Order: sequence, then C-alpha cells, then structure tokens
Amino acid sequence: MLPASVDVVVIGAGNAAFCSALAAAESGISVLVLERAPEDESGGNSRFTAGAFRCVYDGVDDLKALMPDLTEEEIKNTDFGTYTQEQFFDDMGRVTEYRTDPELCEMLVTRSKETMRWIRSKGIRFAPIYGRQAFKIDGKFKFWGGLTVESWGGGPGLVDGLTKAAKKNGIMVAYEARALSLVTDDDGVTGVRVRHGGKTVEIVTKCVVLAAGGFQANAEWRTRYLGPGWELAKIRGTRFNTGDGIRMALDIGAMPTGNWSGCHAVGWDRNAPEFGDLTVGDNFQKHSYPFSIMLNANGERFVDEGADFRNYTYAKYGRVILMQPGQFAWQIFDKKTLHLQRDEYRIKRVTKVRADTLEDLVSKLEDVDPKKALETIKAYNAAVKKDVPFNPNVKDGRGTVGLSIPKSNWANTIDEPPFEAFAVTCGVTFTFGGLKIDTDGRVLDTDGHVIPGLYAAGELVGGLFYFNYPGGTGLMAGAVFGKVAGTTAGRRAAQMPR
Ligand SMILES: Cc1cc2nc3c(=O)[nH]c(=O)nc-3n(C[C@H](O)[C@H](O)[C@H](O)COP(=O)(O)OP(=O)(O)OC[C@H]3O[C@@H](n4cnc5c(N)ncnc54)[C@H](O)[C@@H]3O)c2cc1C
Repeated sequence: MLPASVDVVVIGAGNAAFCSALAAAESGISVLVLERAPEDESGGNSRFTAGAFRCVYDGVDDLKALMPDLTEEEIKNTDFGTYTQEQFFDDMGRVTEYRTDPELCEMLVTRSKETMRWIRSKGIRFAPIYGRQAFKIDGKFKFWGGLTVESWGGGPGLVDGLTKAAKKNGIMVAYEARALSLVTDDDGVTGVRVRHGGKTVEIVTKCVVLAAGGFQANAEWRTRYLGPGWELAKIRGTRFNTGDGIRMALDIGAMPTGNWSGCHAVGWDRNAPEFGDLTVGDNFQKHSYPFSIMLNANGERFVDEGADFRNYTYAKYGRVILMQPGQFAWQIFDKKTLHLQRDEYRIKRVTKVRADTLEDLVSKLEDVDPKKALETIKAYNAAVKKDVPFNPNVKDGRGTVGLSIPKSNWANTIDEPPFEAFAVTCGVTFTFGGLKIDTDGRVLDTDGHVIPGLYAAGELVGGLFYFNYPGGTGLMAGAVFGKVAGTTAGRRAAQMPR
C-alpha cells in the first residue's frame, strides 16, 4: 500500500534518486521512493554500471579517505597521480566543446570530493579500478584518464548499498509504482499520480524530486529527438527510462534544455539484446578499441581509434558506428594487444572471430568487403610509426603517417597471429537533453521561474553534457545533484506546515 500523503516523493530508484532521498531524509521528514521496475530489475541504469565515479582527488590521502582499505603495498606499487579540479574542468570543457552549463559544471567539479565522502558516510564502500583504468608496466600500475574509484560490487553493489541505507534511514521504497503525472495548483506541485498494483492513486506531497532517467529506452522519442536511425540502436541499460520524468515536468511548463539531439552511445556487441541484460551488465561493451583498428562494411577505417584515452572518446564513438553502413563495425586485434583486452572481451555472449592469417580473418568478418578489408589492414600496417615506443598508460604518440584517417596513439601493426575481431553496433547509454534546474536542484519553468516543489537530478537534467562525456561522470553528477535536490526539497518540506 502506498501512503496517502508524504513529505517528499522521489521518482526513480537509481543512484540520483537514492542520493536525493538520503539527503532529503536528513531534514527529518518522511520520504517515499517510487520505482517503476519490479524489485529484481530496480535501480535503473545505475545497476548496470561498473560503479566508476569521476571525482577530484589531490593525492593519495584523498583516496585513502574514500578507501581506507588501501594497503601500503598497493600505494607503493601504484602511481595514482592526481585528478584536480582544474583537470576535471578541462575535461568537461574539452569533451563538451565548451557547451557545458558553467554553473552546473562548477557544482559537479567542486562538490565531487565532498559528495563522495558523504556517500561513503552512508555506508557505500569504494575501491580502485585496477582492472580497467591502470596497466602494470615495469611492476607498477599507473592510473590514467581521471577515473580511479569505483563502488564496491560495481553498479549492483552501489544500488543494493543505497537501498539498504535508504531503508535504514526510514525511507519507504515502493516497487512497480510508476509515476504518471504531477498534480499542481497555483502554489506549485502538490502531488503525484501513480500506477501501482493495477490502480491509479494520488499521493499528496510537499515536494517531488524527479530522478527517473533519460528517454533512451523510448524508440519513438529517440527517433524524434536524436534523429532518423536511432530507433535501430540498442539500449545498454534499463528498459524503464522512457522519459516519463521529463514528460511529466514538460506537461506542467518546465523548461527543456541541453543537447536534445545528443546522447552517450558506445560500441556494443552487434548481437546484444534490445535492452540491457543484468546478467551481463556492461559487458556487451567493447572498450579496448584504442588498441585495435575498426573496419566498417566497406572494409574501411572510419575514425581515429587512438585519438585519446578511451574515457574521452567511447561515449561519442557509438554515434559514429551507427552512421556506418549497416550500423556496425569490426574491431581487429593481433597477438600483441590481446592481453590488453578488457574482461568484457572474454564473455560467452560475444560476436567474435579468430584466425591465424589475415586472409582467413577478413573472410570471416560477416558483411564486410574482404578484399578492401585486407588492403586497409596492409595500408595501416605500413603507416605505423614503428620507431615510437608503445605505452598504453600514456598518450604515447605512436601513431600513423600518411593515412587519410590517422590513428594518433597506440598504433601497433596487425601482423602477428592469432588475430581476433569483434563485431559492434551502437549501444545508447543515456540521452543528454533534459530539464533546466538551478543550483539548488529546483526545476525552472519556460519563463525561468522556479516551479515550487519540483526538483530534478540525474540523467534527466539537461545542460551538463554536449556531444561527448568523460567516463564516470554520470554517477558523480547524479550524486552531486541528487544530494543538492534532496537537501533543498527536504528543507522546504520541513519548513512547510504539516
Ligand atoms: C551499461 C552501463 C554502464 C555504465 N557505467 C557507468 C559507470 O561506470 N560510471 C558512471 O558514472 N556512469 C555509468 N553509466 C551511466 C550511469 O548509469 C547513469 O549516468 C546513471 O546511473 C544515471 O543515474 P540516474 O539515477 O539518473 O538514472 P537511473 O539509475 O537509470 O535511475 C532511473 C530510475 O527511474 C525509474 N523510473 C523511470 N520512469 C519511472 C516512473 N515513471 N516512475 C517511477 N520510476 C521510474 C527507473 O526504473 C530507475 O529506477 C553506465 C550506464 C550503463 C547503461
């Protein structure tokens, strides 16, 4: 049974929602989390993640504050470097082509460190991302790409931990409870209509936090806003983020903002199902492409695979793959780089071929022109700057010379068997367009005024990401803005008459 009235309703049960709920509960008011999914599919995209958080740290002491389990041995054998506010600002500016909303970006960057400590205070544990973000060279790990911390147990561990913390703090969680619309009067939002247990009910409330994700799982909206062809992309995560939260807010006059035709989209197994599968999690992705070359149906390269660390290119390359004929590409590796492939290359449900000669390999690349593919590989091999040493931990400058599409770093010849190739298509992570909020997490209307009682956090906030995205920022943004929105909503509710 849902309560007839509650101080704060949070719509969604992912990372942003739980951070909002936990922050709101600090004001000593009643909080209800509405989750559209059944319990075993709950947690939205957050459950599908590896739990990687991009956060500022000025040295190993900041990491120890988050991960007191770090051993002296690990510290001795690892170059963690730093990830300063300046680095985070630079990354956000560069990848979004300086379109990121300056106020929101500043909040994200300057509050990331304190927000991580706050999440830890709620019982979430963190660990260094050794497997994916650092290679061991000469006996020492070196972290690269500004991404060093992940939640214990990845996305499932994060969502389970946040759910446990919510329940410990007296927050109610209702599953299979789909918010349908907002109830308003001249003073703002006063309630939520919810479909639950086959009935539509109205819950009276003082504040609503929208944290129901983007619209990526809605094929019609994808085509409408991202453009033709996007209905053909796969969805990497939850099937429940169909834009409900955005629609409910637009229906009462909220302002849309941000890159509505943009999204985070990656290379994802060509034969993956239409939506994410929690038994596979994020493992349909194929993120070791900087050590490969990618060929399309014409047997041609179409992008600089080594333009930057994977964290700074993967989220925009899904779109590039979708634009290829047949919406697919093959990633090609030889023996020299097989050991650098991430674990996701070794799962059972993978579209992979293996061969001992290049001629045999190209004949096995389904739907690809084999003759042209062989020519492309040979031309690429001839163009590699073999005199520059290869180093996967830095942008090594080992590129190509004279190709119309260069490979700028980590270029190795593809000439040593065994050869492996993996077929990928476009997998959409989340959409970038969303609602306009202020720095207190309040939703603004199309005149720029605050809609009283309405707050937003997570994927459905617009304005932060344009064109591209630095890996690990989604969870961090959800946490920062979730905490802000929840705190503001909780305080407002606490001040309103009972
Ligand atoms: C495979 C994959 C891997 C990823 N890896 C990372 C990573 O390592 N690091 C990182 O930072 N980001 C990662 N991301 C991105 C990250 O998942 C998102 O940025 C982040 O989780 C979004 O959090 P959120 O709370 O806004 O949305 P979600 O976690 O998606 O939560 C939205 C919630 O709203 C619910 N909902 C939807 N409609 C309704 C409704 N009408 N009523 C009630 N509830 C509703 C959904 O069921 C869900 O619980 C990854 C995403 C995917 C798909």
